[in-house]
Amino acid sequence: MNKTISSESTDTEVSIKQEPLADGELLKKTDNVKKPLICIEAGHQEKANLELEPTAPGSKIMKEKVRGGTQGVQTKKAEYQLNLEVAMMLENALAEDFDVVMVRRTNDVDISNSERAMICNDAEADLMIRLHADGNENSQVKGMTFIYPSPENEYTKPVAEKSKDILEVVAQDIISETGAKSRGIIPRGDLTGFNWLKVPSILIEMGFMTNKEEDVLLSNAEYQRRIVAGIKKGLINYDFINNMNSGQ
Ligand SMILES: [Zn+2]
Repeated sequence: MNKTISSESTDTEVSIKQEPLADGELLKKTDNVKKPLICIEAGHQEKANLELEPTAPGSKIMKEKVRGGTQGVQTKKAEYQLNLEVAMMLENALAEDFDVVMVRRTNDVDISNSERAMICNDAEADLMIRLHADGNENSQVKGMTFIYPSPENEYTKPVAEKSKDILEVVAQDIISETGAKSRGIIPRGDLTGFNWLKVPSILIEMGFMTNKEEDVLLSNAEYQRRIVAGIKKGLINYDFINNMNSGQ
């Protein structure tokens, strides 16, 4: 059983009333409240880094370390800024039920896509969530796209199925919370940020900043809260704890 013990009150009682516990007892208690670890990545950064890095471990194919991202046609906001706003909101929303690792908390960083993946690998995250927004030459195009690591690619194959399982639940909850149009759940095998991963991952293209209406919506705090609420609901509905135990 993995019932979460309501920690605040019991912790206080332990430290005030009880005899000092043997180390083992305290450790066991901590084990019981182990939470799934979510690694959150806000896509891009203030300054793109167009130096090259291998697209996968040992690969000869090279790609830019971090591309520039898109920009709001109406808000003029940069994608890296929007991604960070939602990422920080998500960090707060998940704090109670999940452990969270943030790939970045500021825009002024220089972290390549492979390094971002390795931050989540090193943390041994149960899931990496990658937040992005889209751009298109056609300003009419809008909606959310949900992306997971391809089962067809040797690098991403080991995490493809679990990533897809999680994404299907999360995507449904984001769509029902936001009312956004879904452009579908699609696999990608060409992303450096997926190829270096050893843990499951989902990438959410939250909408098109090149569409006037959606650009404004994406910067609206209430809309951002709905995206975040949808992600959180999806993660809870996926039932991470049981799926972690039945996994490895
Ligand atoms: Zn992007």
